[in-house]
Amino acid sequence: MRIMKCNIPAGSLFSRRSALKIGAVLTGSLVAGFDLAGAPAKRRVVVWSERTAPKDVYPDDINGAIAKGLEGLENWEVIKKNLDDPEQGVSEELLSQTDVLIWWGHKRHGEVKDALVERIVKRVKEGGMGFISVHSSHFAKPYKKLMGTACSWSEYKVDGSSVQVIVKEPNHPIAKGVKDFNLPQTERYGEPYKVPTPEAVVFDGIYNRPDGTHEPSRQGLCWTVGKGKVFYFQPGHETFPDLFRPEVQLIFRNAVAWAAPR
Ligand code: ZN
Repeated sequence: MRIMKCNIPAGSLFSRRSALKIGAVLTGSLVAGFDLAGAPAKRRVVVWSERTAPKDVYPDDINGAIAKGLEGLENWEVIKKNLDDPEQGVSEELLSQTDVLIWWGHKRHGEVKDALVERIVKRVKEGGMGFISVHSSHFAKPYKKLMGTACSWSEYKVDGSSVQVIVKEPNHPIAKGVKDFNLPQTERYGEPYKVPTPEAVVFDGIYNRPDGTHEPSRQGLCWTVGKGKVFYFQPGHETFPDLFRPEVQLIFRNAVAWAAPR
């Protein structure tokens, strides 16, 4: 049987992917957001990384760790992709069927093709796809393009500092169930952070330096860009196993649910 073509905007209550699945056996008794068995159609999150993290800390790289933490998300399909996959992991077709894209890069930002960056930005602004940028992805090309600013911090130091992550907006969906927590080691990113004024700073932070001094630095920030939601999370340096921590995993699950198009 021929699959029917559906012109449902990406990011609508049920996805084009679900529509195609349903369209294959269309009976005329559809309820938006549900498949034929009556189960809610799954949404899709793609977790992308450049695969440069040390194997002794992240055996399945950063995207493997983040994807593991998303396993508890109900009704979500979690897909891992990386820079060395065909089409740099994000084909036009996959992108059009993705509700949220999580991005971690560090050393290979420059290899990401401009055409891919354009596609991602368009998908966020016009299609409402959520975009989550992690740690050193403050310099990732799609994130910089979405922000439209330098996205630089004033300094980048691994000097034995710890960070106290503070829930600043306890009623924000990304903070649901999250309490203040400490990361015993961190890469210290210094303010000011050159991004547009965020619509919410969900997580603040205080660095505790080895010399006993303290310094504030924002850890979790949100924006709306066009139709899409964007979240930046500062922790996630590749030599510390923070992306396996339950508090961090909860933040990612919350952030994916928040960033998904309504
Ligand atoms: Zn780092």
